[in-house]
This record gives sequence, C-alpha cells and structure tokens, in this order.
Amino acid sequence: MKMNAISIIEKKKLNKELTQEEINYMISNYTDGIIPDYQMSAFLMTIRLNGMTDEETYFLTKAMVESGDVIDLSDIEGFKVDKHSTGGVGDKVTLIVTPILASLGIPVAKFSGKGLGITGGTVDKLNSIKGFNTELTIEEFINNVKNHGIAVAGQTGNLVPADKKMYALRDVTGTVDSIPLIASSIMSKKIASGADGIVLDVKYGNGAFMKTKEDAQLLGDKMVAIGELYGRKVKYHLSDMSNPLGYFVGNKLEVVEAYKLLQNVEDFMSEDLVNTCIEVATEMYQMSTGESYEASLDKVKRTLFIGDGAKKFEEFIIAQFGDMNDVVIYDTKTTMGSGSLKSGRIESIDAQIVGEVALELGAGRYTKDDKLDYDAGIHLIRKQGDTIEKYDVIFELFTNKPKEEVEHLVDKMLSAYTIK
Ligand code: URA
Repeated sequence: MKMNAISIIEKKKLNKELTQEEINYMISNYTDGIIPDYQMSAFLMTIRLNGMTDEETYFLTKAMVESGDVIDLSDIEGFKVDKHSTGGVGDKVTLIVTPILASLGIPVAKFSGKGLGITGGTVDKLNSIKGFNTELTIEEFINNVKNHGIAVAGQTGNLVPADKKMYALRDVTGTVDSIPLIASSIMSKKIASGADGIVLDVKYGNGAFMKTKEDAQLLGDKMVAIGELYGRKVKYHLSDMSNPLGYFVGNKLEVVEAYKLLQNVEDFMSEDLVNTCIEVATEMYQMSTGESYEASLDKVKRTLFIGDGAKKFEEFIIAQFGDMNDVVIYDTKTTMGSGSLKSGRIESIDAQIVGEVALELGAGRYTKDDKLDYDAGIHLIRKQGDTIEKYDVIFELFTNKPKEEVEHLVDKMLSAYTIK
C-alpha cells in the first residue's frame, strides 16, 4: 500500500516504531501543506503519548533539519556558540548573556523562537521594542555578526519551516511537553543555524515543560546525543524553574529588566537571574575559547559588572533598527497590585500560576494568531526567600485589558505565593 498519513498515525497510535521513510513522509508533506494541521495534530499527540525511540527522535530531527535551509556561518571567523533554553517563566537570559559574550569577542549568531504556552520567547520580547527587526535576511544576519559581533533573529525564511509550523500547532494542541518533540524541535533549529557549539539551559519544575529533574536530564541527554551525531559540541545544565526567573514577567518588562541588569541597576538584579546568566555565559565562553572555567567566570563577571554588556546591548538593538528610547516601561490602562495577606517568609512563588496569569494579562498566546499586549505582565516586587510584613505590596500586574476582565487575577496571583 502507498504510504499515507492515516496509516502512519495508526501505527504510532499502537506504539510501533516508525521507519525513517515514514517520519520523512509526515514531516515533508506537512511542511509542503499536503498533510493538514488536523492530521499533524493527531500525529503529534501519538508521539506525546507514546514517546519515540532514540533512533526515531534522530530521524525526526533530521527530517526537520532537511525541511529547509542549513545556514553556513563559516564566513564568520571564530568558534560560533549558541544557547537555547527549554523555556521558562521570566526567562530573559538570552537578552543578557548574548551582549556579554559579544563584548568579550565571541561571535553570537542566534536564532530564537516565539513564546510557547506559558513560557515567553526571545523573538516576542525583542519585537516589543519599537522598530526592532527580527526578520533579517541571512545576509543581513551574517553582516550584523561580522560588524557588531551579535545578531538575534527569528526563525525567518526557510530555517526549519517544519518546526515553525509544528511549534505553533503544538502550542495550541497540548503537545508541547514531550521529550522527543522538544529535543527534535530545539536541536533541528540549532543544527540548521550552523553554530559550532551549543549550551542548553534545560529547565525543570512547575514553570517548565519538564516537571522533574529526571525528565529534564533525559531531555538534556537526548539533545547531547543528537548534537554529537551531527558533530557539534553540546553541553547542558539543569536549572530549577519552580519559581519565575527575575523580577519581571512579560515581553517589554523583561527587555527593560535585562537592560537595567546589564547596567547594574540594583533594583533589577535579582540573584537568581544574575546567577543563571553568569553560569550560562561562562559555559558559552569556556566552550568557545577553551579557557578554564575559573578564567571564563572571571571574564564574564568583569564584563557584566563594568557595564560593557549594556553598551553592546544598545549597539545590538540599534543595529537591528530598534529604538533604544522605547526600552522603557509604559503605563498600561490597568494596573493592579496586592499586599501580602500575612507576614512571614516567601517560601515559593509557583511559576506555573505566574505564567498563566501573564498569559491572561495578554503577554502570551492562546491561539497561534493571538496578538500580544507587549506591555502586559507582572512585577514580582518580593521574591522567594524574602521576609515580608502583612500588607507589604508583593506584586503588580499590568495590562491594557479593562479592569473588570482581569480583576480575578489578583487572587490567582496571591494563590501562587507560599508564605510561612
Ligand atoms: N523550545 C523549543 O524551541 N522547542 C520546544 O519544543 C520547546 C522549547
């Protein structure tokens, strides 16, 4: 019988191992618009429920890489290092580490994604800056890396078009939290974007796709194995995403936070965010230069604390036509806050709940065509570990939706706090 989508979906539904040809058939025909969204959704759900073997995951990644162009960065001198986070709430690490590395002379050629589920995406954050262009041609992208040491673009043009379509579909069909789907999505983009080395920030906990450390480790191992098959240096570290990262959640809010942190403005330098950024940047610097961990750490810290990263951030935003005057927090139509209902120590702030609130405020998408409210989001005035008094204001919410529509979110936010 001729190969067809229904029989492949049926086969995977029965948890049978797919062949390379069957996987290629699904991916190339979906990319070409021959297989419709509803069949791909069913296929993705069978993978989400039944998983994939290592071999199937590799074939899936390969089919995705081959769905589009593979970028050749050999024109750019030096070891090109990329990073990727598996996604978190308040995760603006890319906006901070890439300018630090670029100012240390490490070429940064990075392709980033849009938000997925409750987790934000770097492309959405950058697009919140007036004028900023995330849709560079490959030529513009390479020129910016050559001239400024840094370029961050969306998955433009023909870079893993299969993932572009599948990513948007997974976001709205409950098929995000799958190890083979995440591993192939991330690694196909990293392989196709041509970096020599990749540092992966694999998150676990409430606010991450992988809820347990063990699953995050499995995901990390899978991605390293795929990278090695392609001859790329890949390293990962695990980070806890049970609490949101940093003080702000929301697109523009996070851009401003990143910039202020690079400028060493104390109110924006939350310890968790600073530490994660230093760790990721150190691993990237070490991978690129081969210097010792201690020497790399020292250089990264120095660059951050003398403010060089902030200058590079400005250069990078302007080089991609962003307006630095727009890197500011605007008043939104509705602002709400709340004091703590009791005094004590904040044990935790549930990142999943915070992510859901941010989504409802307009910072994320429910359907793939939803428009974002770039100014919407959350200011976590007090964080885990802080000791607070009753009535101390612990958070603020910003949105352009009318108050009546979002009032209930104050109680939802309060439910995220465990105070003892
Ligand atoms: N990030 C990605 O690029 N893909 C996923 O599937 C999840 C997080």
